[in-house]
Parts: sequence; C-alpha cells; structure tokens
Amino acid sequence: MTIVYDDLWVCTDCALLIANGDEPEDREGLADEIAALWPNAYLVIDHETNEFSWQACDGCGSPLGGSRCKATAIALPNSSVGHASECA
Ligand SMILES: [Zn+2]
Repeated sequence: MTIVYDDLWVCTDCALLIANGDEPEDREGLADEIAALWPNAYLVIDHETNEFSWQACDGCGSPLGGSRCKATAIALPNSSVGHASECA
C-alpha cells in the first residue's frame, strides 16, 4: 500500500461518500468528480476533523466553506503514481 498524499482535507459530502458510499442527493455525480481528480488513487478518511475551513476540498475541488475531514490518498495497485513516494 502506497500513500500518495497523507494531508488532504475533504468536505463532508466527500467524507460521507468515501466513508459510507453515500452520494448526497444534491451532489449527484460526486463519485465521478472524485474519480476525475484522483484517477490513480482512492481516498481514505481519517478521524481528524477541522470545524471550518475555506480551503477548497481536496476530494472534489469544491470551494465552498465548511467542515473538513482529514483524508489520505492511497495509490491504486496498478497505478504508476506511487513509485515516486515509495522512497520518501
Ligand atoms: Zn469534496
């Protein structure tokens, strides 16, 4: 398992989708948005949360302010993005 990025912050919509597979009703296509931004990795939610941030969501790119959950990106087994960070 290769960690690509371990300091990501995702919005609550992304956190719910990643953690539970629940796509919010008003965010149809969210899974596709995340997949488009992370074609060679999947995201895992950490327990740490930030009550409020204006930082754009690292999962879907949403610029809306709100709470953020910490997340880690893991390289997919057949992707090439992980090789650079394996030596880090
Ligand atoms: Zn998001």
